[in-house]
Amino acid sequence: MDLYSGHINKLIEELAALPGIGSKSAQRLAFYLINLSQERVNRLANVMIEAKANVRYCKECYTLTDEEICPVCANPDRDHRTIMVVENTRDLAAYEKTGKYEGVYHVLHGAISPMLGIGPGDIKLKELIERLQGDVEEVIIATNSSLEGETTAMYISKLIKPIGVKVTRIASGVPVGGDLEYIDEVTLLRALEGRTPM
Ligand code: ZN
Repeated sequence: MDLYSGHINKLIEELAALPGIGSKSAQRLAFYLINLSQERVNRLANVMIEAKANVRYCKECYTLTDEEICPVCANPDRDHRTIMVVENTRDLAAYEKTGKYEGVYHVLHGAISPMLGIGPGDIKLKELIERLQGDVEEVIIATNSSLEGETTAMYISKLIKPIGVKVTRIASGVPVGGDLEYIDEVTLLRALEGRTPM
């Protein structure tokens, strides 16, 4: 027997499919949304639709941005010869928050995971190699220190070395298995400064 109306069930189902939301949270959120004013619900729905329609990949670094070229890539004062490779836009934001990194980024949108069936072709790796045709001095690999992040770092290093570009890996200090986005700025900077050649 269904406890709720069909519409509420559908709403709960959609919310429960979001990351980090269990069925209890989904129920709480669904009833919260139902109790909002029509105006608030419209605003929330529109924000989602507009974000989806207007956010795209930066043509250079593949981070998510509103513009063709993101603000970091468009900034002539950044060091475009140093590329930091991160797994996602949230990791880029974590390093940007330190305000101390002067290079540019490359966002992979994932990490290699044989277990999840995510291969090199499923992340923005080909795009990274294409960027190395230009004037690049160093690639800093700042993938997470999870199994997937380490696998990805090794793979990238092997791919880039024959090209003759310097490859470094941020130091640990970043806890094993840790997601970059949750790490404090001091630790992030220490990891960057202590990077080692691969
Ligand atoms: Zn960019």
